[in-house]
Amino acid sequence: MNSSPPPIDAGAAPKRACTEVPVQWGGRTVRIGGAQPVVVQSMTNTDTADAIATAIQVKALALAGSELVRITVNTPEAAREVPAIREQLDRMGLDVPLVGDFHYNGHKLLTQFPECASALSKYRINPGNVGAGKRRDDNFAQMIEVACRHDKPVRIGVNWGSLDQALLARLMDANAASSQPLTAQQVMREALVTSALESAVRAEELGLPRNRIILSAKVSLVQDLIAVYRTLAARSDYPLHLGLTEAGMGSKGIVASTAGIGVLLQEGIGDTIRVSLTPEPNGDRTREVIVAQEILQTMGLRAFTPMVIACPGCGRTSSTFFQELAERIQTHLRERMPDWRSRYPGVEDMKVAVMGCVVNGPGESKQADIGISLPGADEAPVAPVFVDGERTVTLKGDRIAEEFQSIVEAYVARRYGS
Ligand code: SF4
Repeated sequence: MNSSPPPIDAGAAPKRACTEVPVQWGGRTVRIGGAQPVVVQSMTNTDTADAIATAIQVKALALAGSELVRITVNTPEAAREVPAIREQLDRMGLDVPLVGDFHYNGHKLLTQFPECASALSKYRINPGNVGAGKRRDDNFAQMIEVACRHDKPVRIGVNWGSLDQALLARLMDANAASSQPLTAQQVMREALVTSALESAVRAEELGLPRNRIILSAKVSLVQDLIAVYRTLAARSDYPLHLGLTEAGMGSKGIVASTAGIGVLLQEGIGDTIRVSLTPEPNGDRTREVIVAQEILQTMGLRAFTPMVIACPGCGRTSSTFFQELAERIQTHLRERMPDWRSRYPGVEDMKVAVMGCVVNGPGESKQADIGISLPGADEAPVAPVFVDGERTVTLKGDRIAEEFQSIVEAYVARRYGS
């Protein structure tokens, strides 16, 4: 017998209950977990030892909407420059919290460079590469002690590419002796979850408060990601940082990240996300921020920028003018947001329709806050504009784009201005 379908108005599941972790810098606190909205974060790809280049990229990511920015701290030169990066950002009036990404030598860098430890707002520790045997325990403890001393939260970030090999061997041995052995893939997933949870328990034993711990367990395949995070969510109440590792380039990276993150968010799992896109050479690093925001906004979980609803175009579309206008309006809205955000609260929820012909143009435009229905092939060369569901002016001639942009500006000021 078929189970009954969910109600037609069912949305995303409520967020899973978990602790709330504050991440602070200056007067700003970004809260991860609890009932807080899902936080967007990103990571630089500059050499952290180059403080100017790193500060410039952090600024670009923060202005694009990244609420935390992670930087690599891999060498003494990088650790030495972290306070300078922080100062640069403070001088520019940017209080975005910085997260330090540590591997292999984090215990040394955090203890040898206390100003670095202090300038960072959160540390990412990978328990798979802090050393082996007793050194592993000592190094991990050293980093947790620094976090306790500076009262900094920690993300215990497990990654399948650098999984704790001793733990994996232990689980494989236990599995081989089991009467119902798991597959190799299941053992790998179990090892990721176990590594994150055992490390979190150890951190608490060392004195790190529970509300200073965030977990992640990153993999590069969507089904592994979903399975691992469902298990982590079921077995713990730490906030979870979601994202594929090595998601890839271009559309593949975006689709894979969206598929994995989207399924989990729909189930109420996930408190902060990062979309790990491989940029094209000299590509724009802020793309990963925009994609993360668009995942959250298109799922109806948060709003960041007014959305343009555009039809795909088809044989009825009379020219490329329709695509150009949709692109122009989306770019304009995004560029205006830094100013609008403070002057026009609520504008991020606005919906603007740019449609290609009479078939769905007027209907979709009426559903949006403001919309334009461009003429398709064989239609009269006029473009009616709809505002709050009502047809208003009809544009024609060479200046349709400029005039529609002015109408949008006036609408924003009228509707969202104080
Ligand atoms: S609105 Fe018109 S132009 Fe756009 S996809 Fe539909 S039929 Fe084609």
